[in-house]
Amino acid sequence: MSVTIALAGNPNSGKTTLFNSLTGLNQFVGNWPGVTVEKKEGALKDNKDVIVMDLPGIYSLSPYSLEEVVARNYLLDERPDAILNIVDGTNIERNLYLTTQLLELGIPVVVAVNMIDLVDKKGDVLDVEKLSRRLGCDVVRISALKGTGVREAAEKALEATRRTAAPSPAFAFSNTTERTLSSVAGLMKPKPGQEIPKGQKRFFAVKLFEGDEKIVERVVVSDAAALAAVREKAEREFDDDAESIITNERYTCIAAIVEECFRKKSASRVSASDKIDRVITNKWLAFPLFALVMFLVYYVSVTTVGAWSTDWANDGLFGGGWRLFGIGTADYEAAVEAFDPTSGAAEPDSAGFGLWIPGIPSLADNGLQWAGVSGWLRSLIVDGIVGGLGAVLGFVPQMFVLFIFLAILEDCGYMARIAFIMDRIFRKFGLSGKSFIPILIGTGCGVPGLMASRAIENDRDRKMTLITTTFIPCGAKLPVIALISGAIFGGEWWVAPSAYFAGIAAIISSGVLLKKTWLFSGESAPFVMELPAYHLPAATGVLRSAVQRSWAFVKKAGTIILLSVVAVWFLSSFGFEDGKLVQVEDLGDGILAHVGRSVAWVFAPLGFEDWKAAVATITGLVAKENVVGTFGILYGFAEVAEDGAEIWGSLAASFTPIAAYSLLIFNLLCAPCFAAIGAIRREMNNWKWTLFAVSYQTFFAYFAALCVYQYGMLLTTGIFSEGTAATLALTVVFLFLLFRPRKDAFRSVKTKLEAV
Ligand code: GDP
Ligand code: MG
Repeated sequence: MSVTIALAGNPNSGKTTLFNSLTGLNQFVGNWPGVTVEKKEGALKDNKDVIVMDLPGIYSLSPYSLEEVVARNYLLDERPDAILNIVDGTNIERNLYLTTQLLELGIPVVVAVNMIDLVDKKGDVLDVEKLSRRLGCDVVRISALKGTGVREAAEKALEATRRTAAPSPAFAFSNTTERTLSSVAGLMKPKPGQEIPKGQKRFFAVKLFEGDEKIVERVVVSDAAALAAVREKAEREFDDDAESIITNERYTCIAAIVEECFRKKSASRVSASDKIDRVITNKWLAFPLFALVMFLVYYVSVTTVGAWSTDWANDGLFGGGWRLFGIGTADYEAAVEAFDPTSGAAEPDSAGFGLWIPGIPSLADNGLQWAGVSGWLRSLIVDGIVGGLGAVLGFVPQMFVLFIFLAILEDCGYMARIAFIMDRIFRKFGLSGKSFIPILIGTGCGVPGLMASRAIENDRDRKMTLITTTFIPCGAKLPVIALISGAIFGGEWWVAPSAYFAGIAAIISSGVLLKKTWLFSGESAPFVMELPAYHLPAATGVLRSAVQRSWAFVKKAGTIILLSVVAVWFLSSFGFEDGKLVQVEDLGDGILAHVGRSVAWVFAPLGFEDWKAAVATITGLVAKENVVGTFGILYGFAEVAEDGAEIWGSLAASFTPIAAYSLLIFNLLCAPCFAAIGAIRREMNNWKWTLFAVSYQTFFAYFAALCVYQYGMLLTTGIFSEGTAATLALTVVFLFLLFRPRKDAFRSVKTKLEAV
């Protein structure tokens, strides 16, 4: 028979890390609250009969957030056989607040004091024996990250499941409160046909006293007037409301327990984290620092380290190959000519000491030619698959570098600060910083970002977050950014970072604009967030996250993008001649060219009426990498690849910088890929809202790209055209929507006036 152990603890206490280490699964470890909204389960690594359940992180069992309700209902209704309560040892007072509540549920609890590596390093001392006696449950010291004590914690929890006596907490509140609680318990009866589980009476009594509505529904009160009288008496005595009385009692208990069991080495010094935060979350410095950090992240991933590795992959592996030795003297063309695929050997070049290793396109082309494969198949493989996929896969190194940076920023605790910093800006407009967490997650991939929006309780804010999350450039948009930045702008320093900030600007302005419409107006819930202490990122965690994300990208290239490039190849290289389907000489005669040309007028005001750009934008709806894959095919990546960056040259020849930047902006902001649209649909649970989201994004993108192109042209050529006039008119409308006063702000001022 299987038993279930639930992992419960505050956000960021290390539950997911412990869960991964216990089950051997790879759940996403995120250094901010709200990542685990759903509960996740897995079997214990060395005992498959034991199910471990990773609950969302919670601070208490009150019904104040979705996470708390999910966790609480699970504990009450499913009654796991034991609770493994993870307590962050570096923040023990606050974490024990939840522990005191878990102990009242009548379910065996084992407390695992985590981050013990940090506790030891600080020199603090925890008396486990004493703590165990004072709480009335087993206590173990663990480090989920280092793996110490993890096995013991699992064993202790397993042992606890076998105990028959209902556990009860060893601590007590003040005599007055205890008396009050027993009078409340006396007035409480289970609902007909149900029973209050053994050992859970105290929990219900406390909740009944607090007046927690969702719990009150579960019991029958024999004398409601008597209950009210008991509560009123207590409230008068303590001069406080019932809920605060209980909260105070808990903290009084905890203070006594901590005083007895925990020796802090240095009493109340300002921690290093607080010192760092004084600078990083400083009112004036916070935003410039954030901009600088993200600038460096994108600059380094796209322009420097990333570009070196991508050049290597693009020019070498998927390009013309590598020349070893004799650089500058070898007759490169001659070496290519002389290459003999039958022997597979690299040929010394005419100068005698150069060595050439062929890249995949020429290898494939020559190999297929040698094998006598028919022309169309060779074209499919070389121009379609190698050309399309190669163009995309060449960006894996850049993506990997970006993912490493994101994982480091997240793990060390900086990302959580960004949400906090953005809250200060957002709040001015009635938005909550909580909306920013999904957006930060979306920097990796939009889909988990959209899913993280579940942590937002306010429905309007959640919808608005779903609409704006995919504005942030995700990993899949990176190749598009890198291609445009490299091909058209010669890797200029500002291009890649500007794409990120365009996303942020789109989010902020959309947030402000939407909040002022009746659809989304209203106050936002206050945003309370624990800022985790800074710590050095764990190399394994960072690598795991970057490898996982990059691997997901490679897998995507092998499936959905592969299918897309085959389709693009087919549609572009076949066309109708005299009513017959034939392979065309010139891609401009293919089916895709016709389709592209028929919609290109839509993009003409944005500066890219070229059918290839129109087609790339449309294929980008399937997956954003397709934009690059499609360019790879349509601009003959594989054909010209023998001289490395030539595709970049032919791309550059087809676009002016302004048109290319407009193309980039449109592709970054417009409707996201199908997977993300699907996620929006799931989270909205409504087609109309999904349609609204996607249309809004596309209109917004169109407007932004229009501004880039039209104003860009005005500034560079000085010609004021009809297009400029139309853009100007739209800009006025946009600015009006952005800066008009908030309706609800008016309303609250009015109600205040009326109250006076
Ligand atoms: P959750 O929100 O409770 O699921 O917490 P996570 O498992 O996502 O961990 C939050 C952060 O704490 C991550 O950055 C972990 O790497 C880090 N962490 C977890 N356990 C330990 C530990 O034992 N020692 C240290 N130093 N860090 C830890
Ligand atoms: Mg977690």
